[in-house]
Amino acid sequence: MAITKTKFINYIRCPRYASLDDIKKEKLDSIVTIDEYKNEEKETKIKEILNTMFDENGNDLIDVTSEHLETMLPYYNEVELLAGHIAPKYFDGTFKYSKTTYNQESFDCLINNIRYICYVDIYNENKDGFNIIEVKATTTKKYLELGTKENSIFMKDEKGIYKLLEDLNVKIEDYMDIETYEKQRAKLFDKYTGPGHYVYDLAVQRYIIENDLKQNNDNRKVKYYLAVLNSNYIFDGKYENDIPKYDEINGEDIISYIDMTSITESMMDKIMLDARRIEDYVNDLHADQVPLGKYCENKKVTKCKYCKVCWNILPKKHAITCYIDNHHGFTKDKIKYSTFDLINDGKVSMLDIDESYLTREKNKIQRRAVETNAPYMNKQKIIDGIKQIKYPIYHLDFETFPCPLPRYRGEKPYTQSVFQFSLHIEKEEGKCDKEKDHYGYLAKDHKDHREELIKMMCDLIGEGTVLVYNDSFEKSRIKELSEIFVDYKSKLLKINSQIFDLMNIVKTRSKMYEELGYDKEEAKMLNYYHPDMDGSYSIKKVLPIFSNLTYKGMEVANGVEALVTYAKFPKMNELDYKHKYQKLVEYCQQDTYAMYKVLEGLKKTIK
Ligand code: SF4
Repeated sequence: MAITKTKFINYIRCPRYASLDDIKKEKLDSIVTIDEYKNEEKETKIKEILNTMFDENGNDLIDVTSEHLETMLPYYNEVELLAGHIAPKYFDGTFKYSKTTYNQESFDCLINNIRYICYVDIYNENKDGFNIIEVKATTTKKYLELGTKENSIFMKDEKGIYKLLEDLNVKIEDYMDIETYEKQRAKLFDKYTGPGHYVYDLAVQRYIIENDLKQNNDNRKVKYYLAVLNSNYIFDGKYENDIPKYDEINGEDIISYIDMTSITESMMDKIMLDARRIEDYVNDLHADQVPLGKYCENKKVTKCKYCKVCWNILPKKHAITCYIDNHHGFTKDKIKYSTFDLINDGKVSMLDIDESYLTREKNKIQRRAVETNAPYMNKQKIIDGIKQIKYPIYHLDFETFPCPLPRYRGEKPYTQSVFQFSLHIEKEEGKCDKEKDHYGYLAKDHKDHREELIKMMCDLIGEGTVLVYNDSFEKSRIKELSEIFVDYKSKLLKINSQIFDLMNIVKTRSKMYEELGYDKEEAKMLNYYHPDMDGSYSIKKVLPIFSNLTYKGMEVANGVEALVTYAKFPKMNELDYKHKYQKLVEYCQQDTYAMYKVLEGLKKTIK
C-alpha cells in the first residue's frame, strides 16, 4: 500500500481514521494513482485558504462544499506560481515547480512494506544539494507573531529569508528572555495550531525525502523552507493588462520564505514514531469508537472527514460543547477537566455534568436556562443598553472578500476587501420597512469599486447611531478604508465613532456597562440567554428567538456562500449573473433587517 503525505497527516489523527477510510480496499492497491494524489493535495490546499480566510472572524466553516473549494483553487494556483517566480531572488540554482502535481519533483521510500510518497511544490537544486520549498497560502503573520510584542522568534537573514533566532548569529536574550523564546517556539511543534500545522506537514515531507535519499545512497544536503504570503506586503495598485503586478514594494516581496530546516530536523524522531503508529493502525484496522480529541479538529475547515460519524455521540441540542468558554475546561474539587475528558467519560450533554463543575457565572446562567427551558435576562442592563442608541438608526453590514492575493491599492494578502454593504435606516423607533428603507451597494464585477461604495455609504449615513453586530469587523474595515481613501477619512472616522454594537446589549460589554455605573461583576455578566442559542451569540442563532425572519431557503444564506457567489461573478453567464447578483443583495439585506428585528424583539422582551 501507499501512504501520501496527506494520508499520513490524517491517519495519525487517531487509530480509527484508517479503518474508517476503507483502508482494506486501498491496501489492495500497491500505489496511489497520481490523480488520487492530486485530488487529495488540491482539497487540502484549498481548505487551507478557507481556513486562513475565516479563522479571524470566526465563521462557522462546517459545511464547506466542493463548490467552495473549486472556486478558491485559482487563487491557490496563483500563490504557488508567484512563490516559484520569486524564489530565484532568494535561492541560487535551478527550480522545478508547476501548478499541476504531475510535473513536480517526487520522492518515495519503502518502509515496512509501506510506500510513502510525496510531491514537492518547489524543488531547487544548487551546488551543495537541494532545497525543498513548500508553498502554503497562509501568511507570515502566523509565524512573526510568535515571540513578544516587539520581537518575533523569527528574523530575516542577510538574504531576506526568515530564520529562527537560534539559527542566526545573534544572542536570543537581546530579543527576548530564553523562557519566552522556548515557550513561543514550542507552538511550532503543535500540529493542531496554525503555525504548527504547516511545520508538521513539512516534517512529514522531510521524513519521506530523507528515507528516499538514504535508500538510494544519496548524500546531498537538503534544506527545508515554507513559502508563505507576506503580511507586510501592501499592494501599490499597479496592473499589467488588468492583472495585478506584484513587484517588490519598499523592500518587501509578496512571498516570504521561512527556513524550517532545524525545526523539522528536531521532529524527525517524532515523525518516525508516528509512522510506526500509522503502520499499527493500518494493520489492526479497529473501527471501534475512540476518544474524541483536538485531533478531530471539529469546527475547523481542516476537520477530520469522519466527524459526522464519531461526533454523533453528542446530542444535537445542549451538547456539553455549548457551554461558553468550554475550551478553557471545567474544574471540580480543584481538579481540572477538559471538555474532551468529560465527553469521553460519557458526559455529552450540558446537564450530564454536575453544577459543581461550573465555575463561570455565564455557564451557570446557561445551565439554568436549559434546566427551566426559559430565557435568562438582566432587564435593567438591556434597558440601559438600548438607551445608548440614538435615532435615526443605520443598521449596517458589510460583505467582504478576503482574497489571498491583494487585488486593489492599499490591500495586503487576505485583506477583508469590502464589496458590498447593506443599510436599513430606521428613522424613528419601530419604523423600518424591509424594502422601502433599504439601501445598499454591491460591486458589479471584480474591478475596484471601493470608492463608489464608500461614497454611497457616506452620503447615506447622517447623525444617529450606526448599528452593527459584532463591531470589531465593521470598525476595522472602515478604518482600513479611511487609510486608503484619505478624501473620505474624516467622514469614515465619524461613522466609526457612531458605531454601536448590538451584541453589547444581547450579550454584554464590560467596559460599556462599567461606564454606565455597573460594578465589574454585573458588567461582565450575560444580559440575555435563551436555551435555543446553544452557546452562540451569532446573529443567525439570535434572530429566530426574536423574530420569524429566517435564512432558511435563501439561495445565499451565509457568509461563505456570499463570498463564493461574488468570487464566481466573472465566470457566470448573463442570466445566472443577474439572478445571483439579486440573491446576494437579498442576503445582505436580510442581515441588516435581522438587526432591526432583534432590536425590536429585545424591546418587546423587556416590556
Ligand atoms: S472524528 Fe476524531 S475520532 Fe473520529 S476518526 Fe476522525 S479524528 Fe478519529
